Amino acid sequence: MKRLAEFRTRSDTALAALTAMPEVPVLLHDHPIPPELLGAVTESLAAARAKVDRAATVQGGQARLKAMQEAIEAMFEVSDNFRAVTTARANQLIGHDSGLSEPVLIGQMLADLREFGGRIASEVIAPMASHQRIPLENIIDARRDQGRIYQIWHMLRGQTALNAMPDLARNQAAIDRLFFGVGMDMVNAIIKQGKDSSDYPMTATELTRSFVPTMKSVEDYRTAFLDNTVLRVAMERDAALRLLVIVALATSIVLAVLVGVLLSVRRDVFRPLLQAHEEVIGLAEDRPLVARRDSGSAGEMTRLFDAIDILQDRMRERASLTSELRLQAETDGLTGALNRRTLDYIAQNGRDGLPADDALALIMVDLDHFKSINDTYGHLAGDRVLIEAARLLTREAPIDCVVARFGGEEFALLLSRADLDQAGRLAETIRSKLQNHRFMLSDGQQISVTASFGVACGQRGPRDWRHLVERADKALYRAKSDGRNRVSIAPAVLARRAGVKDLQRRRA
Ligand code: GH3
Ligand code: MG
Ligand code: MG
Repeated sequence: MKRLAEFRTRSDTALAALTAMPEVPVLLHDHPIPPELLGAVTESLAAARAKVDRAATVQGGQARLKAMQEAIEAMFEVSDNFRAVTTARANQLIGHDSGLSEPVLIGQMLADLREFGGRIASEVIAPMASHQRIPLENIIDARRDQGRIYQIWHMLRGQTALNAMPDLARNQAAIDRLFFGVGMDMVNAIIKQGKDSSDYPMTATELTRSFVPTMKSVEDYRTAFLDNTVLRVAMERDAALRLLVIVALATSIVLAVLVGVLLSVRRDVFRPLLQAHEEVIGLAEDRPLVARRDSGSAGEMTRLFDAIDILQDRMRERASLTSELRLQAETDGLTGALNRRTLDYIAQNGRDGLPADDALALIMVDLDHFKSINDTYGHLAGDRVLIEAARLLTREAPIDCVVARFGGEEFALLLSRADLDQAGRLAETIRSKLQNHRFMLSDGQQISVTASFGVACGQRGPRDWRHLVERADKALYRAKSDGRNRVSIAPAVLARRAGVKDLQRRRA
């Protein structure tokens, strides 16, 4: 009786723990066991206990057997109700993780194996305890339960999850030997005997003592299986975690490589390309290349910059050729003074941003008796005189004065913003300098050369220019005809220029 009370306290504590939200895996926290299922367990347990208590008080063979049978049936009902609880729990687990369905199913089958083993013993224990023959329905139930456990065992053996656990082979062998060997043999012998007589080969207590240990092999097997499963799930979780860490690591490495590639592309490609772009535009706009790119550029970029360098050299060459050609086109080959074409252009269009309607003064210079210099000293000596005369004119003319060779031994000086007075004075100064200049010939001889000057004033522009030249030429002609080595001012303007008039009069 003391042991009975002890077992009842133990099962009460277990039930209370289940009702009061037991320690379960986090994933089951939101899924309490349905209270109606636990209620059914508690209710049927109370009823079964009452029947057990009553069976203990009933005396006399058949009546006692009946009471015990009823108590046992009631206990089976409790067991069935509790099975509903474990099934509900199992379904919740599988709902969370379908990978758990196989181990949960196996766990249930192992529990059933133990349960039906117990039931088989229960079918014969009451008749043995009450010294009665085993009722036919008990034998039928026992055989049916035996059929179930063989079936369950057969199914369990086919489970891959179990076969994947070689450590469990020893437990399997123990079940075959103890539970299905010793245990079932014992039950079969008792059924065989108790079918026809109440003379049993052992007492109910002896049966309990011998049979219960054979069921322990089933319990051990179940425990080993569950431990193995928990371990495997933990290992899988760890492996998944490790995989996660590796994937995260690999991802960060890939990202780092990508960032590196981007940075180096920016450094080696984009930045140099932008610089190359700047340099090409700079070349096109004739700007000097200032910044030199860093030496870390990729090979293709280095070649691009080499090409830009070559382009720059070519452009420099072209620029110097262009300016040389321009010089050739604008100047006179012998004297280096501007040529007639350039003089015409400047006189009509202006130069260096000077306004087109600028006032102009033109001084025409013609060397006197030049032909005789050629004739006397030779053509080369004549050339020398022409070169020297051009130099003198350039030296004596103001900085903004255009000095050109008009043709042959004639020169022209074009002055911007100058009136007849200023132009006449300049012509006189130059005339005097020329007269006093000694021209050195190649043979060391020194000769003197004079020139006649024609001065006129006018405006810039095509038509005005023609007029201006005509008037200056006329004045020059007059200077010649008046005796050479003198300055003559164009008569139309002469009336208004008293100073120059005096000058001319003096010379005449
Ligand atoms: P005038 O005082 O009337 O001007 O007499 P001139 O001899 O200077 O004038 P003319 O027009 O009769 O002669 C000009 C000479 O200048 C004729 C020509 O041979 C010479 N001449 C023209 N161009 C050159 C040149 O480039 N070099 C040389 N050495 N002589 C030239
Ligand atoms: Mg002449
Ligand atoms: Mg002449």
